[in-house]
Amino acid sequence: RVFWSWCKIMGKKKSDCQDRGACGFESYYSEIFGTRWNSLKEALQKETSSVPYKISESSKTYFLDSASIFAAYSLPLKNAEEILDLCAAPGGKTLVLSSLMEKNASLTCNERSFDRKMRLVKVCDECMPEDIRSRVKITCSDGALWCRTKTECFDRILLDVPCSSERHVLNDEKYLNQWSPARIKTLSIEQWALLSSAYRMLKKDGILLYSTCALSHKENDDVIERLLKKFDDAEIIFLDSEFYIQNKNDVERVKEFSPQFSLIHPERTQFGYHIFPDMQNGAGPIFFSIIRKKK
Ligand code: SAM
Repeated sequence: RVFWSWCKIMGKKKSDCQDRGACGFESYYSEIFGTRWNSLKEALQKETSSVPYKISESSKTYFLDSASIFAAYSLPLKNAEEILDLCAAPGGKTLVLSSLMEKNASLTCNERSFDRKMRLVKVCDECMPEDIRSRVKITCSDGALWCRTKTECFDRILLDVPCSSERHVLNDEKYLNQWSPARIKTLSIEQWALLSSAYRMLKKDGILLYSTCALSHKENDDVIERLLKKFDDAEIIFLDSEFYIQNKNDVERVKEFSPQFSLIHPERTQFGYHIFPDMQNGAGPIFFSIIRKKK
């Protein structure tokens, strides 16, 4: 019904619409979100609400979405020595992890694109104090191939995969006209390649946080479901579990670096959480799922 009324407003017959471009986009997401789609779309069309993040007096301030801070903060870092951020550029979540990791921890950040890796280097150089920057290593290669040479060597992994970024698509006519559901299929294949590679590199008892800024379950819960089917030592950790509460990061530390940050209340999905801008003051969208490799 939502899609029908959109066709009417746009002066189109439903039969004129194809499954691609702006029409296809509208039809695809109004089917997923039903009557919520109009308010969600309106929130997605507004500018992202960014908050400042500053690690020390001498370091530069970085601006990022509160939902991104919340997702990175949700990866528990207690007792973690070897941390990996496999798809790291431009580096917003890298900064959050680096500011919350313990004094003896080191962070490896990777990015496949050379240009984006150079942006990541700049962000790390400008926004991290020296004592943290010296424990951050930056690499540039395809994360989906890492598991060929590395096995069970990281205590924590942040996997913030490339995704549909519907907020971006919706606000750019060129991308909206090029939109097609086939793109979601291609991305979910890439996401799976990265997730299965990252999971193989996770130590036993280690924790991996998978995140996207995509709206569709095909890039979110469905990718996680595939992991759970393939690896029987993988388990989902929810934010209200005893394990999570005992291991979570201190939110007061985040507020030291970002005084405008306030806790977000994400919506639970089958295997994780979704933060949608219509419900969280413009923050998001971000999906995240926390996965532990059993001992
Ligand atoms: N975590 C970043 C942040 O908070 O600023 C955003 C990461 S963005 C969603 C995903 C990044 O992964 C992009 O910079 C993209 O170039 C990179 N990427 C895509 N495929 C990759 C791969 N196979 N291996 C490593 N990085 C990849």
